[in-house]
Amino acid sequence: MTAYVRPASLADAVALRAAHPDWTVIAGGTDLMVNATHRAEPVGIVDLWGCAELAGIVRDSDTIRIGAGTPWLDVLHHAEVRTHLPILAAAAREIGALQIQARGTIGGNIVTSSPVGDSLPVLLALDASLELVSPRGRRTVAYRDFCTGYRTTLLAADELVATVVVPVPDPATRLAWRKVGTRAAQSISKVMAAAAIHVDGGVIAWARFGLGAVAARPIRAAAAEAAAAGRAPDATTARAVAAALAGEITPISDVRSAADYRLEVAQSLVMRFVINAGRP
Ligand SMILES: Cc1cc2nc3c(=O)[nH]c(=O)nc-3n(C[C@H](O)[C@H](O)[C@H](O)COP(=O)(O)OP(=O)(O)OC[C@H]3O[C@@H](n4cnc5c(N)ncnc54)[C@H](O)[C@@H]3O)c2cc1C
Repeated sequence: MTAYVRPASLADAVALRAAHPDWTVIAGGTDLMVNATHRAEPVGIVDLWGCAELAGIVRDSDTIRIGAGTPWLDVLHHAEVRTHLPILAAAAREIGALQIQARGTIGGNIVTSSPVGDSLPVLLALDASLELVSPRGRRTVAYRDFCTGYRTTLLAADELVATVVVPVPDPATRLAWRKVGTRAAQSISKVMAAAAIHVDGGVIAWARFGLGAVAARPIRAAAAEAAAAGRAPDATTARAVAAALAGEITPISDVRSAADYRLEVAQSLVMRFVINAGRP
């Protein structure tokens, strides 16, 4: 019979995780339960849902700290998120429907680490970092480094994701997000892209582009970012950015979309982001 424990504190959750590396950690269960009947019964379950320390959103001076166990509905409705991280609120609104948003957590999206995880390009564009906890203590990793390949991450066998730390963007930084799927609601993404673009004196000082469903993992488009920096946010720059992007993404054809369509959409999105950054 499967053992089941619902720790009330983060310390207990960490101790259980370390003591039972073969047990399944579950948060909202919206990823894990989908295939539950196709997998062997777990030896044991550590259920994080009752761990209050993992849930909630706090603003400090220059960051917004989001507990890994925070469900999407709370992310979507939080005033600081809506004001300062509107692209994260927008992604939260597009993750499944209300039932999934009420149960699915930001930590679950991050650890599942699917190339179509909707929050992941946003976390890349916002330059978020993660606090990971284990019996060895707490360490911080840039989200950019966390996802190492197709559904693989830096998370060690005895670690939990505790907190997502997002720097509060400068109000002048333009943020953008777009998910493209087969329909407006409850769609698995064909392509999604997020951007943070800082224009100073009519020139793009820096840009961060996060993209999903165009490679084995969510990626920062470094070549596209380099192509944007130091140039005016206009159509010429947009074309240069799109050309650079083509060299660094590797979309595939699958049941949801075709590789050439994904490339074209990804290019259109970054071009639009660049041009919009130049608008008042
Ligand atoms: C009908 C449906 C629609 C969906 N639509 C979307 C969508 O539009 N966009 C999208 O991106 N996703 C979608 N999803 C996927 C899912 O809802 C999200 O990825 C959600 O954020 C997962 O969170 P969870 O808490 O339910 O994860 P769980 O299923 O509980 O866990 C997922 C993984 O994360 C691990 N984990 C969870 N929390 C932690 C932690 N704190 N530390 C370490 N490991 C942890 C678990 O061990 C497991 O490996 C959908 C799912 C369903 C069933």
